[in-house]
Amino acid sequence: MTRFDAVLMVDWSGSATPTSAKPKKDAIWIGEASDNGVTASYHRTRASAMAAISARIDTALAHGERLLIGFDFPFAYPRGFAHALTGATDPLGLWDWLAERIEDAPDNANNRFEVAAAINARFPGVGPFWGRPAHLDLPDLPTHGSARTFKGFPERREVEGLLKSTHPCWKLFTTGSVGSQALLGLPRLAALRQRYGKAIAISPFERAEAPVVLAEIFPTLLDRVVRARTGADDIRDEVQVRTLAEAFFRLAPEQLAAMLAEGDAEEGWILGIGHADALERALPSGGVVRDFTPVPPLSDDCFALPRGVTWTPVDEALDLLRDRLSPVTESEICPVTEAVGLPLAEDAVAARSHPPGANAAVDGYGFAHPGPQTGALVLPLVRGRAAAGAPFDQRVASGQAVRILTGALLPDGVDTVALQEDCAVSDGDVAMTKAPKPGANTRKAGEDIRTGDPVLPAGRVLTPGDLATLSAAGLGTVTVRRRLRVGVLSTGDELRAPGEADGVSHTIDANRPMLLSLLGRWGYEPVDLGIAPDSQDAVRDRLEHGAAEADAILTSGGASAGDEDHVSRLLNETGSMQLWRIAVKPGRPLALGLWRGAPIFGLPGNPVAAFVCTLIFARPALARLAGAGWPDVVGFEVPAAFTKSKKQGRREYLRARIREGRAEVFASEGSGRVTGLSWAEGLVELAEPARQIAPGDPVRFLPFGSFGL
Ligand code: AMP
Ligand code: MG
Repeated sequence: MTRFDAVLMVDWSGSATPTSAKPKKDAIWIGEASDNGVTASYHRTRASAMAAISARIDTALAHGERLLIGFDFPFAYPRGFAHALTGATDPLGLWDWLAERIEDAPDNANNRFEVAAAINARFPGVGPFWGRPAHLDLPDLPTHGSARTFKGFPERREVEGLLKSTHPCWKLFTTGSVGSQALLGLPRLAALRQRYGKAIAISPFERAEAPVVLAEIFPTLLDRVVRARTGADDIRDEVQVRTLAEAFFRLAPEQLAAMLAEGDAEEGWILGIGHADALERALPSGGVVRDFTPVPPLSDDCFALPRGVTWTPVDEALDLLRDRLSPVTESEICPVTEAVGLPLAEDAVAARSHPPGANAAVDGYGFAHPGPQTGALVLPLVRGRAAAGAPFDQRVASGQAVRILTGALLPDGVDTVALQEDCAVSDGDVAMTKAPKPGANTRKAGEDIRTGDPVLPAGRVLTPGDLATLSAAGLGTVTVRRRLRVGVLSTGDELRAPGEADGVSHTIDANRPMLLSLLGRWGYEPVDLGIAPDSQDAVRDRLEHGAAEADAILTSGGASAGDEDHVSRLLNETGSMQLWRIAVKPGRPLALGLWRGAPIFGLPGNPVAAFVCTLIFARPALARLAGAGWPDVVGFEVPAAFTKSKKQGRREYLRARIREGRAEVFASEGSGRVTGLSWAEGLVELAEPARQIAPGDPVRFLPFGSFGL
């Protein structure tokens, strides 16, 4: 079975007039998925949709391609109907029969009610079709279904019994009613068969081996995904045909072939019924339901500084980032098992209590506590036992005890468990020297989590422990934000990748591997944008690429205001550029701006400054963009092992580590000394005021671990 080169899904319409020029719902939508991607088109009339479909079939046949085309109306009627009209059970004969009678003009004007009335006239009593619009004078077609007296055919096909809600094909009136869609659709399909002959096969009545295969589909088959994918401004019908086309296109060819063979020779079948899970899994996110609700863009002036500011204190710079940035990633429903490292998009609410029922915390003997008493307790043991997953389902009478194992539900009548090590068993009795406290060694239902409790807040970046909590709370899926993608670009004529440096004028690009790996540690998807020389065009080209591939970009080098500072210059062009002079050492100005909506963090070129600025400024900013909570850095005071005279006015971060309980700092504060980044295990943070530090004085140490490293 060769695969289909494209899958088209058609949302049909029974409209009697052309639908609006502006695309809308309840009109004809055609989704197409192929190796070229997924597209959708809108058609105002059936005639224009069929012209487009024929043209597509012509192209496919000319190129030797295979097409699967789905239509969302019944390909057959309930058992007996085709035979009653045509003398044969073959539904394709009924298609031709209808094609001879249905007239459907290029402007959608049609005679479907007249044909339905004429069909009704062939049967005794009233029916089976109904749903006559008030303005038509057709005595054989009742207005209401309840007026029907003819009961010769089932109301629905068997396959429709597998669906939650379907409209019967006998009902012709109201928007979206499949009755009209079938009467106006089947003759169109009959025409395709006429025109293309053996090049077309109809599933499941014919073997699905022709170049073009037509099949009946059900538009809401993948409703869960479609709902998640439909944003406020999207048209559901369009998302529906795109999603269906994409899912069937991506399905393994053998799976699709098997689905096309399912069905009934007389009543037909709906392609993919019962296989919604497999189809969802075939979608690109592997069963993860993407929520394409558009995320509001960042405002152009999000990096604007208050007027008159020359040097911004670190805390003010952080407050600005916190206020101005907002999440840029869409949310998605994700299996808990795949959610580690992703931020929750909404509070996770327990679907189940934990523990769900009162149970034993130890292995031992359970009984009803006898009340205040001293001395030994001897209780007859009932037959049987309570174990985890195998409850004891009778009541334990007062004055009796039952063998119980850890995790077993407390049987009726049991409120206390004696530890087995404290008991002796003989002759069917359990004896203990003293009763434990009432309720001892038991866990109460819901003592940890109660159904409906918020267990973890939106913004929480899920840890392995959280996956345990969520699972215990009965949650199989959570709404998280997709992974943030962050580009990394190095700029400078002097920079070369390792192995490409061939002279002392070259500097090896140290920042890119460092920044890419930092991003990976923080759970983001790093996007390597390479090295750009100091040229406006090269940097522009890389930023364009980065904005298309990533949600945010870290650049290093070229971010000051010098001749070769092209990152600043380009961001200036966009009007969104701000040069933040932060009162911090090490650091140079940070160039912040938006390139095609993607925030750019222009870091200093110097690796030490780039590293510190990334930890202090880019990390919380990226967390905000990712939809994670604001990451506070946990530090602690330790005695200094060094002497330093610190100037007033800016905050300083020294490369540091703890040895013998004291903070050592790297021998050189020179920010060109990259080895200090390997030597250090954290940073010493010195606040803005001037300070004389002597050995033993307390200083604040921030371990790299508290930066998520
Ligand atoms: P800039 O910010 O472009 O003026 O660069 C400041 C210093 O950092 C210069 O000495 C650059 O050579 C150096 N530098 C810039 N980018 C990198 C990089 N990716 N790796 C190592 N050093 C760099
Ligand atoms: Mg440079």
